[in-house]
Amino acid sequence: MKTMLKIENLSVDYFRGKHTIHAVRNVCLDLYEGEMLGIVGESGCGKSTLAMTPLRLLPENASDIAGGKIWFENQELLGLSDQEMRELRGGRIAMVFQDPFTTLNPVLTIGDQIEEVVRVHSKGQRHGASAQPAKDLVIDVLEKVHLPDPERIYKSYPHQISGGQRQRACIAMAIVSNPKIVIADEPTTALDVTVQKEILNLLDQLRKDLNMTVLLITHNMGLLSERTDRLAVMYAGEIVEYGETRSVLRKPLHPYTKGLLQSLPKLAQQTEDQGPVTKSRRLPILPGQPPDLKDLPKGCSFHPRCSHVMDVCREQAPVLKPVENIETACHLY
Ligand code: ATP
Ligand code: SF4
Ligand code: MG
Repeated sequence: MKTMLKIENLSVDYFRGKHTIHAVRNVCLDLYEGEMLGIVGESGCGKSTLAMTPLRLLPENASDIAGGKIWFENQELLGLSDQEMRELRGGRIAMVFQDPFTTLNPVLTIGDQIEEVVRVHSKGQRHGASAQPAKDLVIDVLEKVHLPDPERIYKSYPHQISGGQRQRACIAMAIVSNPKIVIADEPTTALDVTVQKEILNLLDQLRKDLNMTVLLITHNMGLLSERTDRLAVMYAGEIVEYGETRSVLRKPLHPYTKGLLQSLPKLAQQTEDQGPVTKSRRLPILPGQPPDLKDLPKGCSFHPRCSHVMDVCREQAPVLKPVENIETACHLY
């Protein structure tokens, strides 16, 4: 299987006053061509930081990529010049964010905003080579994301359309440059429950139709279980479990993943036809607090909350290793 994005030993820190926050720690992740890879974990565990790092969208003066490499098509992304990164961003790698309002400019029409992306990224791309007028391309992409009455949406300002339609417009903006990879960070969280599923269905359909690879971050375990091929479970900046979604959900090994899933006992048996996504299938809240990323505990960072904790867990940090058909980072295995 071809690897589209390879993250090697990535560590990212933030600085707050005198403190260093270790938001992503030694993460290794492969994104395979055409797949949808899900990332799940409690709030603050570093998912967005991981998602933003390939495109270097981190706050410049308050963050540091402390180590690691990210490979995309034989290019090492962290070593690209600012100009090279600008060309890549929104071009061959695009992002969809949680809140369409932060992505869309309120004083420009949807049509103008998507056309701007076409202008910036048309050089050398399929759209550019086709010499199709920019407006036609935009109408075309608005149709692809199933927006009703694309001519009206084209002329609309963001506040004139619904939340679900705004997110569809953001997805249109992301895919208009024919990206190889779309990174979607909680693309449905701001939307109501029925629209969440529609947006995920859309991303999944576009992935297949346009041969895109998708990295999806969501708190919604129902959506993750139905849509992703593989799943990475993050805890305190690290990936603690990683493998095919079906395997991870059917037989999680790491006590953290087990804890996340225990309030969702039927999840592994659920299929995509089993009814609407409900709030009950959202990420449950585990007892105890995640560790302070400024002051991590020694050994396994989950040990203060783990009911299986052993002496070795308080001393040595476990590393990811293959166990059965997934990878897990736990001294029990
Ligand atoms: P959520 O599920 O709430 O979106 P997340 O898993 O995406 O959380 P991140 O946003 O990546 O988590 O944050 C990881 C850690 O880094 C958190 O402790 C957060 O407080 C911290 N952090 C994030 N952005 C900054 C920043 N700009 N400056 C300082 N600390 C930050
Ligand atoms: Fe629990 Fe130890 Fe495994 Fe950490 S390494 S999850 S503390 S058993
Ligand atoms: Mg986030």
